[in-house]
Amino acid sequence: MRQALIIGNWKMNGNLAENDRLLATISTSYDSSNGIEIVVCPPSIYMDQVSRQLSQSKIKFGAQNVSAYKSGAFTGEVSTAMLHDFSCSYVLLGHSERRSLHHESDVEIADKFSAVVQAGITPVLCVGETLVQRQSEETFAVIAEQISKVVEQVGIKAFEHAVIAYEPVWAIGTGETATPEQAQIVHALIRRQLAEYDVTIANNIRIIYGGSVNANNAHSLFKQNDIDGGLVGGASLNADAFINICQAYN
Ligand code: PEP
Repeated sequence: MRQALIIGNWKMNGNLAENDRLLATISTSYDSSNGIEIVVCPPSIYMDQVSRQLSQSKIKFGAQNVSAYKSGAFTGEVSTAMLHDFSCSYVLLGHSERRSLHHESDVEIADKFSAVVQAGITPVLCVGETLVQRQSEETFAVIAEQISKVVEQVGIKAFEHAVIAYEPVWAIGTGETATPEQAQIVHALIRRQLAEYDVTIANNIRIIYGGSVNANNAHSLFKQNDIDGGLVGGASLNADAFINICQAYN
């Protein structure tokens, strides 16, 4: 049985006061009895604030990115050891904004994946196709390559505790969501691809959906067999919207 997982990606949003209010509301509303794991990913400068404020809560937190290197002359970067200092549990890797705006390659993403696993943190590998790729029926080829490049570099065993986020690029921040059926087809194909390497890992790995998830579409997405939760951007900045999405899992 895969535990449902809902991750809020705050991107480059928030400030001390807003974070305080958001965390206070979501942690008060969190009901651990529904079995859903909830994670928030703040900008790394707020990691200390978030770790303090969630210290008594079951809500976990993660980072939006990390360096593949342990330490040294990498201005502006944050290492896995630094994240570990704050008991950070998850790291998003290969988000489409990192791939497109920061030109992160599959090789760099795989290097980061490996560093994150070695640090005992859970990687969330984000994959997804652009609109042009979907329209030219390349969706699965694109995603299969994004996954196989990492598996071949780090080995399938590194996926034992990993999470995959399917995020069609055309659905991120656009208000346009993949239909539950479209998302389910891709999630099932990802699981089938992983099964070619290791059936147990394929069955156990959590594959979450991201791309304009909101309180209205969450339930029909989460009902799909191979959708184990959501990666939520915009709606995770609004406490009520985020709580409603988490409640939609049931
Ligand atoms: C994201 O940032 O990963 C995301 C899915 O954003 P949004 O929910 O705003 O589309």
